[in-house]
Amino acid sequence: MTTNLADLLADVDRVARDTIAPGAARIDAQSEFPRAAIDALAGVGALGVLSSPDVGGLGLGLSAAAEVVQRVAQACGSTAMVLTMHLCGTAVLEAFAPVAVRRDAASGKHLSTLAFSEAGSRSMFWAPTSTATRTADGIALDAKKSWVTSAHHATAYVWSSRPIAGDGPSTLWLVPRDAAGVAVAAGFDGLGLRGNDSCPVTATKAVVPESAMLGSDGGGFDVMMGVVLPNFQVLNAACSLGLMNAAIARTIAHATGTKFEHTGAALADSPVTRGHISRMKLMTDQVATLVADTTAALAQGRADASLRVLQTKAAAGETANAVLDLAMRVCGGAAFRKEVGVDRYFRDARASAVMAPTLDALHEFMGRALCGMPLA
Ligand SMILES: Cc1cc2nc3c(=O)[nH]c(=O)nc-3n(C[C@H](O)[C@H](O)[C@H](O)COP(=O)(O)OP(=O)(O)OC[C@H]3O[C@@H](n4cnc5c(N)ncnc54)[C@H](O)[C@@H]3O)c2cc1C
Repeated sequence: MTTNLADLLADVDRVARDTIAPGAARIDAQSEFPRAAIDALAGVGALGVLSSPDVGGLGLGLSAAAEVVQRVAQACGSTAMVLTMHLCGTAVLEAFAPVAVRRDAASGKHLSTLAFSEAGSRSMFWAPTSTATRTADGIALDAKKSWVTSAHHATAYVWSSRPIAGDGPSTLWLVPRDAAGVAVAAGFDGLGLRGNDSCPVTATKAVVPESAMLGSDGGGFDVMMGVVLPNFQVLNAACSLGLMNAAIARTIAHATGTKFEHTGAALADSPVTRGHISRMKLMTDQVATLVADTTAALAQGRADASLRVLQTKAAAGETANAVLDLAMRVCGGAAFRKEVGVDRYFRDARASAVMAPTLDALHEFMGRALCGMPLA
């Protein structure tokens, strides 16, 4: 297995070309979980890109993880989002889980994800309504989780509840998927990211040991904001970037390769079409620059890092919708009838705006921050 970024990215590109891309249309059409793709990524170390070398990870940091996710998203958005949620879960495990769990997460033997969103508090994941109660047998969890990516395939969930007794809005737990009392709802039939397996999960008096707590009782909010948020915002933005870049490549191929027989002109011979393609690329590269600046701001501990973290997913999600709208427009009826393949990227790109923190919530947070108001 490789230990430097250049080798890792070469390996990821090979996996994307040979394993992920060939299955992507089927995964989308059949809402199939991308098992082979995730196993292949684990095989080149990509599931441990954020994990410490002490537990067998690559320890390459968030900027490297974003590069990996961006490349995977070009081939398959569903695989990229499964990887994103694993890496976000892994960041929490790295901070709080036992070494054996961290080692398994780094190798991909343990697939992680976040179980934050709930039927009660909906997109306001920071305010769980589910409970954790101390009993003679351990901690009993009761919850209606509304969306959990990789719900049927994760080894365990990084799970939020109200605290047992501590102050603060939440406590985090490591909850095995097969724990008694945990039930995963059947099949995900989404508009996009259809291979994600993003299903509801309930817990009915599901007992975990008190040692399954990740961090302190009541400390969940700080972990969500300090550990999960930067990783999720940047990696979600990296997904959007990959979708945009893939769509641009397909749009250019279609526009340059499709001719009007009666004139001999290609679609790309129209300045209107070329202008759309130029705008698509400009908007995408603006987002790429923002993502790179966000990881730099985080790495350097810059004063504007928090604002950049909020901006990065907002800009990427909003821009991806605009770029994919243009891709559908440039490629015309051929795209509408799925002949070009940009419709999958168009549908996948819609998810970013509704994944929490949602686009509207991010603009509200940023507006508050800029106006000197508290975020909540
Ligand atoms: C593909 C996919 C994968 C996901 N994977 C996971 C996962 O792995 N783990 C997880 O925990 N969650 C996951 N989620 C859930 C996600 O993070 C959100 O919680 C969920 O999409 C919110 O949907 P909702 O309809 O409940 O939102 P609602 O809260 O009902 O919001 C609906 C709309 O109203 C807007 N809105 C709400 N309140 C306000 C307000 N005060 N002002 C203005 N607008 C407002 C929102 O921005 C949103 O656009 C996933 C979602 C998707 C789509």
